[in-house]
This record gives sequence, structure tokens and C-alpha cells, in this order.
Amino acid sequence: MATASTSCPHPSLRRNYFVSSPRSPFCSFSYQSSFVGSKIPKKWLSLTDKARSNRTDPLTCSRPNLTCSSSSHTSDVVIIGAGVIGLTIARQFLLGSDLSVAVVDKAVPCSGATGAGQGYLWMAHKTPGSDIWELAMRSHELWRMFAESLHEQGMNPQDHLGWKNTGSLLIGRTPEELDVLKRRVKLLSDAGLRSEYLSASDLLLKEPALMVEKDSGAAFVPDDCQLDARRAIDVILKANRNFSTQGRYTEFFHDPVTSLLRSGGSDEVVGVKTVKNTLHGKVIVVAAGCWSGSLTQDLFRELDIVLNVPVKPRKGHLLVLKNFSYLQLNHALMEVGYVAHQTATQLPGRLTSEVSDHRQNLSISMTATIDTLGNLLLGSSREFAGFSTEMEESVTNRIWERATDFFPKLKEHSLSDFIKRREVRVGLRPCMPDGKPVIGPVTGLSNVLLATGHEGGGLSMALGTAEMIADMVLGNQEKVDYAPFAVQGRCCQ
Ligand SMILES: Cc1cc2nc3c(=O)[nH]c(=O)nc-3n(C[C@H](O)[C@H](O)[C@H](O)COP(=O)(O)OP(=O)(O)OC[C@H]3O[C@@H](n4cnc5c(N)ncnc54)[C@H](O)[C@@H]3O)c2cc1C
Repeated sequence: MATASTSCPHPSLRRNYFVSSPRSPFCSFSYQSSFVGSKIPKKWLSLTDKARSNRTDPLTCSRPNLTCSSSSHTSDVVIIGAGVIGLTIARQFLLGSDLSVAVVDKAVPCSGATGAGQGYLWMAHKTPGSDIWELAMRSHELWRMFAESLHEQGMNPQDHLGWKNTGSLLIGRTPEELDVLKRRVKLLSDAGLRSEYLSASDLLLKEPALMVEKDSGAAFVPDDCQLDARRAIDVILKANRNFSTQGRYTEFFHDPVTSLLRSGGSDEVVGVKTVKNTLHGKVIVVAAGCWSGSLTQDLFRELDIVLNVPVKPRKGHLLVLKNFSYLQLNHALMEVGYVAHQTATQLPGRLTSEVSDHRQNLSISMTATIDTLGNLLLGSSREFAGFSTEMEESVTNRIWERATDFFPKLKEHSLSDFIKRREVRVGLRPCMPDGKPVIGPVTGLSNVLLATGHEGGGLSMALGTAEMIADMVLGNQEKVDYAPFAVQGRCCQ
């Protein structure tokens, strides 16, 4: 049965905030009544007027937990996937236009990679001048504005988002790694980011619990921050649901998308079919994480357009030890080896599905942070192991062992000591072979857009991605160069 559910607006969320850009028409930080809304550009109006005039079904339910019984719905934008990418795209359309949005997921929000995310919103391990740099910078700025806007609404970002402004430490432990870090600090500084190289003694002062030896050092980026992925999604979801009373937001969970709806026998896409519903929409956004490849293969089977989205699931474990008082951390940390592990996306000559011994590509890099609830989050693993999300004890043990190499105090304990208050989160990062997301319209089908492939950076790049998708659809000025993320040449000719 369709679950087009809504909830009562949180009292403190009744006024909507605007994410703003100095270069966009939505450039004030002021709150707007959601009914005042923004103007839809003329170019876009021609589409939406038609969409609206066709609307026959009530899209929303005004009471909490009310279930819409109709199985046919019409929205301006249909978003496939309720991970951080899909939900932030929905948010951007709701705040930055007058369009109505439907979000559909085969399960529920946070059931994909998003629910396993550690929450780093980091620039320290991203490289200035790389294809993702501008997008990551813009996203970082938008996350900060988001946190500030909550603050201005009287909501403490620390409580509501799990927001922490503690900065990041990228740790090296060999002379070669220290050279890498020194070069990275120079690059980051040249790109205008506050960053500092810390010698062993400086590092020990900043992070006394860390094992610091003669050849230890770190890159410190004080403006890096982190959040709690699940709490952030909760805030975004609630804010999106506030628009349901205006008929602008509907969600369909536990309802997999199965095919595209086409107009007559043509290639014109006018919506999607799900297991339980028919969702009409003028614009379709595929934000289905690592499932986007297989999904689009199914969806495009009967079209004359060849689309091959080479996104692969990259499995990751995150170990969470609740109320952890044995270790004090002042920052979020990551070993510098993480960067090499993340960028090693290629499996030469083989498809992921053909990898039989996936242990060959298992990598573990230490990431450690204490969240605002006092939980110790230890990461993380990377492996191409198909679509399985089974928790593997051996991988969890290796994450723990790697952490004990960095934090001697942990050696006083065995992981089994914490069996009752540990949680292991497993997620499938959507990984593109060229290491960057694909964001934009499908060639030859401009009302179907892709937004996926963020691998280990989907949380940090979400808001910039959402802004980019909405700007493309609304015809707004681009804030970040679209070209590196184009579908053409990467997923179709
Ligand atoms: C261990 C770990 C740690 C991480 N740490 C960080 C971090 O610190 N910082 C960071 O920036 N990133 C981090 N990431 C990466 C980040 O979590 C991902 O990049 C991000 O969550 C991807 O979001 P998404 O919305 O594209 O995909 P997902 O969250 O996977 O969402 C895709 C959604 O699509 C739905 N779907 C699939 N098929 C269908 C269908 N047929 N019909 C309808 N719905 C469908 C799924 O159910 C799912 O909910 C981490 C990931 C892991 C695994």
C-alpha cells in the first residue's frame, strides 16, 4: 500500500529557511513564508503550467500518518531515492521554486549508504584543482549556511544536526606521508583554505590520546566540520514534509520504481511506475545511489537511448561504540592513507560483479571521531563486494585493530568488551570509475536527470549537488561548472 505520509510540522520548523547564494536569485538568508515562495522562471513555467493543469489527484495529506489511497499522483518533480542526495534535491526545489516534489524510495530514508555515513564535511582530503573541488567547496559553504539558518531559527545545530566545528586532522606516520601532508597544506592554503602543518609535538598538544612518534605529523584544517547523517536527514525530512500542507511534497516509501512512464509509444518520459503507484512528473531525477546503474538499465530498456551508468556499490563498515568514555578526541581524525584508498576506484579488467575474492580489494583506513552524543565512530572499510550489506565480523575487527594502532588506550580493551553497546553500520557507497559524481540530464532526454556516484563524499557534496540539479532545471545561473559531472561521455555517447 502506498505510504504517502506526512507529519505535523515541528513548531520550530514552521517558517522555512532559504539556502542562499550570493550569485543566485535566492540570495538572502531571510526566512520566507513558504507561500510567498520564489518565482518560477518563464522557461520553466511552460512546463509546470501544463503539469499543474493535468493534476487530478490530491497530492498530500494534511494530517499526520494519513495514507493517500489513490495510486496515481502528479508532481512537477519526481525524485527516485530518499538518501541524502534525493532528499536534499527535494529540499532545494521546495525552498528555491514553487514546484511540487514527490520522493519515492524502495525502502526508507537512510536505508542506503546515507545511514552508514560518518558525517565528515571535509575539505582536508580533497584536492584543490580537482574536478570535485569547486562542488565540495560550494557544498561546504551551503552546509554552514544551513547550520547557521537553524541557529537563527532557535534550533541548536549541535542538537539537531549533530554539528561539530572541531576541524579535521589528516594524520601521517612516515617521512613520505609527512611530505604528502606538507604539500597538501600548501595546496590547500594556496586555494584559500585555512590549513596548517602540525609537527609531532604540535599534534600531540592538539590530540593527546593519539600515538605520536618522531615521524608523525598532520594537516590541520580548522574550518572542517562534521554532522550526524541520520539526525541531519531527520531535520531535512521534517522540513520537506512541512510543504505537504501546500500540496507541494509527497513521499512514497517501501515502493520501488520499476519503469518509466512514456507518452504513447514515444521516448517522451512523463513519470515513473512503482510497484504500488503511478507517479506523473515533468522532471525525473534518479538519485538511487549505487542502484542507479541497474535501475536505469531497467528503466531505459525500451527506449532508443543507450544509457550505461557505471556506478558500483563500494561496501563500507562503520563501527559505532556508544557512550564511549575511554577515549577523549578533540577533532575528527583520518589517516592520510584514506586518500589513496578512496581514489583507488578501478578494478582493472574486471567488473565488480565478477570479483570472486573480494578480500583482494578490501582496504581499511582509520577514521575516528566522537559525535555530539558521546559515541565513538570508527571507520572505515572499502571493498567491491557486490550488493551485499551483510555485516562481516572480520572487517569490524580489522577496523578496531587499525584504530588501536593509533590510540594506545584502546589496546587496554578488547572489542568484545563493548559488544552490548556497539553498532556496526554497513553501507554501499555509489562509486563511479572516474571518482566523481554524475550530475545532469541524460543526453537526448533533458527531463531525466542523474545525481549519483558521490562515493565517500555524498554527505559533504549533497547540498552543492542539490543546488546544481535545481539550477539546471530552473535555468538559474550555474554556481559551479557543470561540465566535469556531465552524463554525456561518461554514461552515454
Ligand atoms: C561507512 C561509510 C562512511 C561514510 N562516511 C562519509 C562521510 O563521513 N562523509 C561523506 O560525505 N560521505 C560519507 N559516506 C558516503 C555517503 O554516505 C554516500 O556518498 C551518500 O550517502 C550517498 O547518498 P545517495 O543518496 O546517493 O545514496 P543512498 O543513501 O544509498 O540512497 C539511495 C536510495 O535509493 C533508493 N533506491 C534504490 N533503488 C531504488 C528503486 N528502484 N526505487 C526507489 N528507490 C530506490 C535506496 O533505497 C536508497 O534509499 C560514507 C559511506 C559509508 C558507507
